[in-house]
This record gives sequence, structure tokens and C-alpha cells, in this order.
Amino acid sequence: MGSGSSTYRARVIYLDIDGRLQKVTFSKSCRSSDIKDLLCVAAGLPRNTTLSLVTVDDTLVSIDPTMPDNAESSPYRVVPVPSEQLSAKEELFQNVLSQVAEQFSRAFNVHELKSELANHLAKLERRVELEGLKVVDIERCKSDIKRIKEEMAARSTRTNCPCKYTFFDDSKKLTPRRDVPSYPKYMLSQETIEALRKPTFDVWMWEPNEMLSCLEHMYHDLGLVKTFDINAITLKRWLLCIHDNYRNNPFHNFRHCFCVAQMMYSMISLCNLREKLSQTEVLILMTAAICHDLDHPGYNNAYQINARTELAVRYNDISPLENHHCAVAFQIVAQPECNIFSNVEPQEFKSIRQKIIALILATDMAKHQEILDTFKANLEHFDFSNPEHVISLKMVLIKCCDISNEVRPLEVADLWADCLLEEYFMQSDREKSEGLPVAPFMDRDKVTKPTAQIGFIKFILIPMFETVTKLFPQIKELMLRPLWESRDRYEQLKEIDDAMKEVQGVHIGTSIPGAVDN
Ligand code: 5GP
Ligand code: MN
Repeated sequence: MGSGSSTYRARVIYLDIDGRLQKVTFSKSCRSSDIKDLLCVAAGLPRNTTLSLVTVDDTLVSIDPTMPDNAESSPYRVVPVPSEQLSAKEELFQNVLSQVAEQFSRAFNVHELKSELANHLAKLERRVELEGLKVVDIERCKSDIKRIKEEMAARSTRTNCPCKYTFFDDSKKLTPRRDVPSYPKYMLSQETIEALRKPTFDVWMWEPNEMLSCLEHMYHDLGLVKTFDINAITLKRWLLCIHDNYRNNPFHNFRHCFCVAQMMYSMISLCNLREKLSQTEVLILMTAAICHDLDHPGYNNAYQINARTELAVRYNDISPLENHHCAVAFQIVAQPECNIFSNVEPQEFKSIRQKIIALILATDMAKHQEILDTFKANLEHFDFSNPEHVISLKMVLIKCCDISNEVRPLEVADLWADCLLEEYFMQSDREKSEGLPVAPFMDRDKVTKPTAQIGFIKFILIPMFETVTKLFPQIKELMLRPLWESRDRYEQLKEIDDAMKEVQGVHIGTSIPGAVDN
């Protein structure tokens, strides 16, 4: 997961579409369904058309991430299969085939994850050796290594978790869910219950089922189940469905959803928000946090717009992702068995829905300055009974939670920065291969972990948390101080990186004959 590696491996295949040659590129970590969609687009057919690929010697090719390469001179022929021709037997066969492909794809992900973590480990070990000459902080690096080793062991089991990732589109109904009581009831220890209320909570320790139990606990503990008469089983089913509708991205995954919700729960507790806001506002804050990145595809709004994806077209380039997260959130509660609002009056539901939408839309970073400026203006005479003031506070709160990884302890935050860069690099590699504009902050040739984090902490995080601290001074030690510490640490790391570059530059300069003279 270090800056020099990525799970993205481009696969290229050639297609023969009615005599026209078409080159298609996709990532090896794509799902079979994504590849099928891509082939439909390439063939100018509606998505979900059932296709067959046939080699020049009339052999059928399975459409999945492990499908064999071909050459330009021997493209696969694309043959649409009219749906009425698909017998039940064939459908069964297709199903089995795609499940096998899915298993393969998962197995690949496990191996790639392992090799990325091994690379990261090797880099850290090298850093300990190099820094041993000039830096005091060896112990920290050693503990980093220990943690990464543990993480490696933990991740390999996490990736094997049998969760089903589903996504929405207009033509498909929600794929079948596991039914509720299949996630066991975890008894949370008193220690966990206490820890859950603080930003220091170790979010990497837990399996998805345990995170689901923690979220369930929060709704009970905050009195939301009681106030809104939420059926306890419906709450479980809703959470399970939420989980199933986060994708397995490096960063924008269910664990990120959990982090944002857990930070919101911490802020509600630290800032005594239950005394200052209504239960409805608390329900809105928690629910928006949980739903805020539903079905995130791992590629940001800029990519959606530049690549003219279905989402960008659907939402006219206006916050396409955030609009999609909201739509998925309300598609989930539109199913009676997942409707946590079923006992809320229609008029109240309407208002809750509108406020959740406003909060999820506020997580688009393009609106960052505007939202912060509005809140700052209100802060001069902040009034908890003024609805406009409360809305601007809630927007800032969800934004704080959304980007709060660096508020967490070093050993928790550090891995998130790796995950984010991994997702950024996946995007920029794809943009390069598709000839789309690449943002410098996502480019593996231009960004490093310290440079990415220093700017974000200094210019986005610290100013926003400083502003919130004016209203809630109690968060200074638990939220602002870790940001100052993280900024200082990354500045140190950047100095080391710069010194290493200089040493390498001098080394290259002296070892290449003639280079010094030039
Ligand atoms: P999200 O996509 O999670 O809803 O919106 C937050 C965005 O803020 C992320 O996509 C990412 O671009 C940015 N972000 C969040 N946390 C960090 C961080 O720790 N470092 C940097 N450089 N960017 C971050
Ligand atoms: Mn987010």
C-alpha cells in the first residue's frame, strides 16, 4: 500500500464488433459485472445485455477478471444473446461461472493486498536503517513495523469475510440479502462501550459484524430506537443492508462509514449535543454519517465528470457521487423490512429525509469553503434555537467526521493515509490510461504521503477544527492537539524524505561519470 505500489493492473483485450476492432482496458480488480457492463458499452449495446465472447476458433470465453489475454490479430467476437434464448440451464451455468470468477477475483485481491503490505513493510525497514544514522524516532518506526505486520495478519482474514457487495442500478432490484439474525449478537464489553465514545477508538480492530454491533449499540444508547420506535430487527436489517452497499474500495468502504459514524458518536458525546439538539437532529446526524458514501465507486467526482460516467450524466455533473449516496440511502429505506423510519409520521419523515440529504450533499469537498464560511459567520452569535445556525453546525460536524482520520491516534490514522493514496493512484493510473486529466495530488509521480497530509492538515483540517473548538472548547485536547502533532510528524518525515532525495541526488551525481560536469 506504499506510494510506489498499487492493486491496479491494466488488462487489455481486443474485440471484434461486427468487423470493427475495439480495444478495451480494465483493472484486474474489476468485478465480472463491471467488465460485462464495459463490454456492452464497447459493443454499443444496453448495459445488462447478455453477451458471449467467442475466439477465432469458436471457443466461448468466460467474461471475468482472469479471462485470457488476446492479441490484436485474434480479437474476441462479441455475440449478444437474446434473453429469450437463455434457458434456465444456461442461466444457472452463467451464475455459477460468475460466482467462480468472483472467488478468483477475491483470491487475487488477497494476494495483492499481502504483497502491498509486504512492500510497505520493506520500505519501513529500510527507513529504520537509514534514519538510524540521523533521527531519534527509531522506536516509532519499529512500532509501525510491528503494527503493519499485525495488520497484514488481520487484513488477510478480513478480506475473506463472506460479505456480499451489491450495487444499485435502475434495471436491477437489490440483490438478495443475508437475512438478519445471521450476524451474531456481540456482547460489547464495558471497556468497548466506553472506548466507542472517544476519537482514540481503534477502528482497525474490528470485523464487519462487530462494527455492525457497535453501530446498533449507538442507536440504542442515544435513545434513537426508543424515541423513533425503531423495530430492533429492522435496525439490524437496515445496518446489514448498509454494509452490503458499501464497496470493497481501498478507502471508501464500510470501515470508512464506520469511522465517520463513530467519530460523530464521539462528537455527540464530547460536545454534549444531546442536551443542545433535538433527538431528531441526533438521528439525522448519525444516519447521514452512516449513509454518506453508500456505493462509492472509488473514483471521485472529477473522474465521474471527465469520464462522462452514467452518474455524471444522471446528475448533470452536480455532486454526482453525493447525489448517488443519498439516492441509495433512500432506496434502502424504501424497502419496508429495512425502513428504520416506519414509525415516523409522514410529515416528519419528509423533513428528516430533506435534512439527511442536505448533510450528505455537504460532504462534497467542492463546497468546503462555502460551508465553513457560513458557519463562521453564525458563530459570532451562535444560537441553538436558530434552525439556520443548527443546519450550518450539522454540516460542519459531518464534514469534520468525514475527514477526521488524522484526528485519530498515529497508528490508526497512518493506515488510512495509505488507503487514500492507494485509491488516488488507482484513479490517476486509470485517468492516464484513458487520456483524462490527472489531478497532481493524485499522481503517484508527484505526491508523497507527507506532502499529501501536510497540506490537508494545515489548510483544511486545522482551520475547520479550530473553528469548531470556538463553540466546543472541550474538543481542543482530544481533536485539535492530535492534528498539530500529526502535522509536526509529517513535517519531520518530509524533511527526512527531502534529505534522502538530496543524498540520492548527490550519490547519482557522483556515480554517473560526467554528470557532475554537466
Ligand atoms: P469523502 O469522499 O470521504 O466523502 O470526502 C472526503 C474527501 O476528503 C476524500 O475523498 C479525500 O479526497 C479528502 N480527504 C479525507 N481525508 C483525507 C486525508 O487524510 N488526507 C487527504 N489528503 N485528503 C483527505
Ligand atoms: Mn467520506
